[in-house]
Formats: sequence, C-alpha cells, structure tokens
Amino acid sequence: MYKAKAFAAASPTDALAGTLIPRRNAMETDVQIEILFCGVCHSDLHTARDEWHSIMPTTYPCVPGHEIIGRVTNIGAKVDKFKVGDVVGVGCLVDSDHSCPNCQHGFDQFCPDAVFTYNSVDKHGTAPVTYGGYSDSVVVEQNAVLRIPSNLDLAGAAPLLCAGITTYSPLKRNGVGPGKKVGIVGLGGLGHMGVKLAHAMGAHVVVFTTSPSKRDDALKLGADEVVLSTDENQMASHMNSFDMILDCVSAKHDLNSYINLLHRGGNMTLVGVPEKPAELNAFCLIYGNKSLSGSMIGGFAETQEMLDFCGKHSITADVEVIAIQQINEAYERMLKSQVKYRFSIDMASLKNG
Ligand code: NAP
Ligand code: ZN
Repeated sequence: MYKAKAFAAASPTDALAGTLIPRRNAMETDVQIEILFCGVCHSDLHTARDEWHSIMPTTYPCVPGHEIIGRVTNIGAKVDKFKVGDVVGVGCLVDSDHSCPNCQHGFDQFCPDAVFTYNSVDKHGTAPVTYGGYSDSVVVEQNAVLRIPSNLDLAGAAPLLCAGITTYSPLKRNGVGPGKKVGIVGLGGLGHMGVKLAHAMGAHVVVFTTSPSKRDDALKLGADEVVLSTDENQMASHMNSFDMILDCVSAKHDLNSYINLLHRGGNMTLVGVPEKPAELNAFCLIYGNKSLSGSMIGGFAETQEMLDFCGKHSITADVEVIAIQQINEAYERMLKSQVKYRFSIDMASLKNG
C-alpha cells in the first residue's frame, strides 16, 4: 500500500479539499497510472453531495473522478496488454468478473461484481470504497484499462471516458445515422458529446437548450438546428418528428413535452439522473407506440470502440482546463449550466497542495 495525493469531500456539505488516500501496490495483473487529466462529470457532484442517497449512498471521504487519462508508471508481473509509458484511460468501471452473462455480452457495467471507479466497495480492502481520479495516481486491473488513440488531445480525451461512452452507446443502439432525426436535450458535458457523436454518425441533430447563449456553440459543435426549450412555439414546430431523443439533463424537468416530439415508434433515452423523480403522462407514450428507456455508460469493449471512433473522427470534448484547487468553484459553475462544455483537471496542479 502507498499514499496518493487526492482531493476529497469529507461530507455532503464540505468543500473538496486536499488529502492523502491509500492505494494498493500493483498486483500481478494491475497497471499503475500517473493521472494527467481527469474530467469533471455532473455525477461527481451528485455523489460528492450525496444527492443519490436513496439509491447509492455516498461513503466519505469521497474522491470523485471517472474520466481519467494517465501514463502507465508500473505494471504487475502478468500484465500483457500495457507497458510502462503507455498513455491510457480509465472510465467509470475498474473491475468486473468478466464471466457472467452481462460481461459475456459486453455489458460489464451490469455485472453483479462490477466495481465502479469511486464510491464502490473496494474488494481489495485497501479502503472502504474505491477512490476516483481526483488524484495523482490510480491502480487498476488491466482489463479495465483503455487505449487512447494517439491523435487525440489528452485534456479533451478525458471526458470521452464517461460523457463519450454514455452518449455513444444509446445513439448506436438506436441506429442513429444518415436519414435519422435526433434530439439532444441539455448542452452540458454529456449533451455536447452527444451532438458531436450524432453528427459524426451522420444524423440530423437538433439541440434542445434552456440557455439562449449556447445557440451558436451548438451549431459549431455539429447541430443542424437549435431549439430553445422554454419557447412553446419552437417546441411545437418539431411535433411528431424525431426518431430518437437523448435526454442529458441533470435536474428535474418535464419529459412529456419531449416525448410528444417523437414520431410513431420513436424512442427517448434518459441518461441524465436528476436527484428528484420525473412525472410521466402515459398518454404521451401510448399515442404513437413510443418508448422511453435509460442507458448507463457502456462496457469495456464498447468504450474502446467509442475511443477508436473518436480517434478516427478526431473527436474530443471541448474543455476548460482547470487546476484541482478550482474544483469547488467549477461545481458551482456546473450547477449554473455555465461550463463550455466540460472541465478537465490538469492533475499536475495537485503537486501544489
Ligand atoms: P452538465 O454538464 O451539468 O450538463 C447538464 C445540462 O442540463 C446543463 O448544461 C443544462 O443544459 C441542462 N440543465 C441543467 N439544469 C436544468 C434544468 N433545471 N432544466 C433543464 N435543463 C437543465 O452535466 P453532465 O455531466 O452532462 O451530466 C448530465 C447528467 O447525466 C447528470 O445527471 C449525470 O449524473 C448524468 N450521467 C449519467 C450517466 C449514465 O451512465 N447514464 C453517465 C454520466 C452522467 P442547457 O444549458 O443546454 O439547458
Ligand atoms: Zn460521469
């Protein structure tokens, strides 16, 4: 065991602050990684503040961060997939059993033994729960480590590990491509990746935003149209027209007005996880045989597939690089929907305290 530097929340109401955490020494199939960048996901904030208490209570101290890019500094004796010096990624999952039906079908995230990057029981017993990427290093089993295409900017590639896969997976599952009309609701970290990916897949992309100031950015990111969701006339002009709508919103909002925009048989997928439950009007779904579904990140193989897709299309997140000491201010700006469009922490800043 060794001590790593990290930023942690000590309670739901405490600001994140510098601390030392235990990390296990690399075992036979482990990869030790010096963390270079870590994206800031809204799930980090939900977890640090225990907003999902009823489903997934937070154990403190809580070290968030599951959009990790780093360099391999040490490998266990049986590691055959990576070597010291490789640039690698770690997303929301650090382990699974690789043998259950979910793992065998590529859905490692639903493995009964899945270990999430933070706030998940640490089966090695190094600490009560796993600690995430707001840290100078991490030790991860090699099967949970991803390859990063060499043409991608590292600060911008970090958010692919969660925001990228979380949007890529449902877009792909729903056959998004040429001839399809796709709505992306909420232009935040997930939403802006959804726009870039759906555009690269060849779909007609419509962004729904509550922020009029994001209109020009949405078009530059790849949207074909932008709808101010607070404007009833703009919403009505898209009635019954979408093949799919991907909802990336972090706070409670009306779902029914979006379901009404799907055409017959259309699908709305929720990836946003607001603290409070939504109200659903069954009429909106039954009229037109529409479906509402959810999607949670993606398995290891699909995450690698998404990274390779991003390498091929030169896609990274639009990031504002921050020092770890700015994390609490960054959370406040994220709550005000003021991030353009993902914070990426330069982990070298952790050396300063
Ligand atoms: P984010 O960067 O904060 O973006 C959320 C966006 O939602 C905002 O930029 C804003 O877009 C919109 N929004 C915020 N408050 C709103 C409100 N009251 N009414 C309507 N729209 C509002 O967050 P994120 O990191 O993209 O994460 C989004 C959600 O996905 C979070 O709940 C997160 O926990 C969840 N998540 C889920 C998964 C999964 O596997 N399913 C993975 C990662 C994250 P506009 O300014 O354009 O309106
Ligand atoms: Zn995330």
